[in-house]
Amino acid sequence: MTKDRGGDVRLSGISKTYGSFTAVEPLDLTVPQGSFFALLGASGCGKTTTLRMIAGLEEPTSGTVSLGDQDVTRLPPYKRPVNTVFQSYALFPHLDIFENVAFGLRRRGIKSVKKQVEEMLDLVQLGEQARKKPHQLSGGQQQRVAVARALINHPKVLLLDEPLGALDLKLRRQMQLELKRIQTEVGITFIHVTHDQEEAMTMADTVAVMNAGRVEQLGSPADLYENPQTTFVANFLGTSNLIEAEVDTHSGDEIVLTAGGGKLTLPQARCSAPTTTGGKVVVGVRPEKITLTHADDAGDIPEGRNRITGKIADTSFIGVSTQYVIDSPVCPEFEVYAQNIDRDTRLAPGAEVVLHWSPAHTFGLDAAQS
Ligand code: ATP
Repeated sequence: MTKDRGGDVRLSGISKTYGSFTAVEPLDLTVPQGSFFALLGASGCGKTTTLRMIAGLEEPTSGTVSLGDQDVTRLPPYKRPVNTVFQSYALFPHLDIFENVAFGLRRRGIKSVKKQVEEMLDLVQLGEQARKKPHQLSGGQQQRVAVARALINHPKVLLLDEPLGALDLKLRRQMQLELKRIQTEVGITFIHVTHDQEEAMTMADTVAVMNAGRVEQLGSPADLYENPQTTFVANFLGTSNLIEAEVDTHSGDEIVLTAGGGKLTLPQARCSAPTTTGGKVVVGVRPEKITLTHADDAGDIPEGRNRITGKIADTSFIGVSTQYVIDSPVCPEFEVYAQNIDRDTRLAPGAEVVLHWSPAHTFGLDAAQS
């Protein structure tokens, strides 16, 4: 779309306070040029405020915002090569779709807008709808008009503030893929604010998980899921089973821990907690990594796997798999998803079981932060 794509977005020590309340703690963050970047967090964690500081809609209390080599901190929004798409679409109801998209060009005094607007409508697959009014389109189509309108002036960064929040689940899923396709096609940086972890994981190359005005962890979706560094991230992205354990010994690259009388092994590289002997570590494992074996068959479990014992409290059939809730002395309500192939009919509520998984799928978190 444009050769000069503006460079990385760099936030250096940027913060925002309202009176005595700190909405965003001093934050250093680099968003690589051309990436699809998500700011993810629960309501009130400061993600919209961060986005608004990049847009110039909110003045930072401290720090700078730069785009490539340019410090834009003091520039008003309309002078920044940035545009924002809001959840509310903010389309002009009296203008048709063509004129809504053409608006930014006409305001700059550009007379021949037809080619550019048509290209943009094709990009968002609304070429056929050009002469309709916004109220004649579905919510998803209106949101695509908002995206086209925001892209028409070739911003170097597109900011999206919960853009899919007003759509129903099915439409949201479609629009997630659609926005990803548009971003790949235009190649500029998209920064997307959402509270929906699945949305962030589906769309973004990099996700910053925010909590109480701070970025808790930054990484690719797979990295955040596989290697959460805090209990907040472990719980916010998917389900985690967390076990309180104590460091026993170190053996090569592995840490051996005790939990409820048993031993668990954790690769040193997957532990973000201090590991002095006797120290407390929260050991985590994702439910789908766990295999469930009836206690009578425990002898068949291969050596070297982490294992804990428990009793099945509840089961629910969820199509491709069965979800089990296990009561265990080390982790109440341990959740396990097991493939529904060769299902052992003895695995019913009340059955004594062994849960086991590979140490490679175990992560260790700092108990002091829990
Ligand atoms: P949401 O998804 O609900 O919008 P968010 O993570 O985007 O949440 P922000 O909108 O950035 O959160 O707000 C962060 C905190 O700052 C919230 O506690 C909010 O109440 C507070 N806040 C935001 N704007 C102002 C303001 N103008 N004056 C005072 N407090 C504010």
